Amino acid sequence: MANQQTQSVADQHTKLAKELQDVKLYIDGKFVDAEDNGTFENISPFTNETMNNIASGQAADIDKAVKAAHKAFKGEWGKMKQSERLDYVYKIGDLIEEHVEEIALLEALDTGLPLSQTKKQVSRSANNFRFYADTVKSQMYGETYQVDDEFVNYTVRTPVGVAGLITPWNAPFMLETWKIAPALATGNTVVLKPAEWSPLTANRMAEIIDQAGLPDGVFNIVHGFGETAGDALVKHKDVKLISFTGETTTGSTIMKNGADTLKRFSMELGGKSPIIVFSDADLDRALDAATWGVFSFNGERCTANSRLYLHEDIAEDFVAKLKQRVENIRVGDPLDESTQVGPLIKTEHYENVKSYIEIAKEEGCEVVSGHIPEELSRGNYVAPTMLLNAENDMRVVQEEIFGPVIAVMTFKDEEEVIEKANDVEYGLAGYVWTNDIKRGHRVAHAVESGMLWVNAQNVRDLRTPFGGSKNSGIGREGGYYAFEFYTEQKIIHVAIGDHHIPQFGI
Ligand code: NAD
Repeated sequence: MANQQTQSVADQHTKLAKELQDVKLYIDGKFVDAEDNGTFENISPFTNETMNNIASGQAADIDKAVKAAHKAFKGEWGKMKQSERLDYVYKIGDLIEEHVEEIALLEALDTGLPLSQTKKQVSRSANNFRFYADTVKSQMYGETYQVDDEFVNYTVRTPVGVAGLITPWNAPFMLETWKIAPALATGNTVVLKPAEWSPLTANRMAEIIDQAGLPDGVFNIVHGFGETAGDALVKHKDVKLISFTGETTTGSTIMKNGADTLKRFSMELGGKSPIIVFSDADLDRALDAATWGVFSFNGERCTANSRLYLHEDIAEDFVAKLKQRVENIRVGDPLDESTQVGPLIKTEHYENVKSYIEIAKEEGCEVVSGHIPEELSRGNYVAPTMLLNAENDMRVVQEEIFGPVIAVMTFKDEEEVIEKANDVEYGLAGYVWTNDIKRGHRVAHAVESGMLWVNAQNVRDLRTPFGGSKNSGIGREGGYYAFEFYTEQKIIHVAIGDHHIPQFGI
């Protein structure tokens, strides 16, 4: 029976995969093969079979795309009125909105993320375009500085030029739009190098932008590997900025490689975020948030609360309830709307996450895992997992696992838990649960992270700065903070009186 079920579900994936066309690069308004005609295979996380072939861009293709983007920046796009440019940005948002269901399905097929979750991500993606068009309209302005009756000095913002965007596979479409929207709205042109493990929705983005009618060369996609296509983008002299989201080690490699051409960088990197639950917290809501925060998006989530610190008075009861949740989480076919955890994106990543569970055992953790239905033995499934009796100095507490795995620890008092929370190299997000208002603020201030939520799950406010501290990132995107990165500020000094000018050589 189980075998029959496996077959019918796999058949659906195979059928959808058969309908996929091969994916080309999108350069200068055209879908083209790589210059050397190279391709790579795109593998299903559910069947581990090849779904389609993707054009594999190399340095020559990057060069072609950058030249097209440069030309568009110097040409029509660069000269366009802001309102006309923003109309295109709104249109991209509208077109995404019209195709949410279809894009969400492609994303689930390609990444293994549950369909119910990719739908929300794609809706948010449409909103990113509208939000940035609105924000540029209302908040991209300069400042004036009057100096008595001698000077009026004022700032103007101009786009930087060709923006190189390099993105990961964990929430591919959403994270791409998070960069494309501000880059275009502020007037730059774009070359996107999407993650090689998740090319399908990036290609759909190219189709949408093509349909929106943006001038040729404004937006380009070069699919390919990090070490080839990504590297060439980072080193290209006409690419003025690189917005990167990915692993911390990749980020530092990119910064080294971009140094010779003096790139401007935005770095959104890895995380190992703490969730701290005090005994006076609303424990039911804290349990909901802790469970969602690490097991949603298959645990492949940069802001995942992967370290749980429980006050010792409530730890036993909380752990018992979390165990129940872990056992009940519906692991399943990502295309089934009731699925809560799907397969991890790629066998290599699956092996890596599994190896951390083995390391946890070696380090002395008690491992409690949920269930993978028998019929799903084929995909890259890792059951939701709790690592009990974890200690701060363990690798599984220090290193990013990036899967559905939570390390659980206890603490006695505020001072101790702050020290533990901060005792990692990362500093992306943090979550504090307490009903003591003073303590909530105190701990929020003390936890070293770029973003902190008190009595809340990770609800984003698009207007606020997004980014990490320590090894989790450099710079902030989100809201008008993105203008610092995507625009150049110029100060213009205008003399309005006869200020003193020293007279040399008289
Ligand atoms: P990754 O670093 O392996 O790859 C990210 C991108 O960089 C890919 O497109 C890849 O091809 C490219 N790349 C790799 N080597 C390169 C090189 N030498 N030069 C140029 N480009 C190169 O990351 P991943 O495995 O795709 O994504 C998972 C990581 O991303 C996790 O660490 C996660 O925490 C992080 N992440 C961070 C955020 C955030 O906002 N801080 C958000 C999502 C994911």
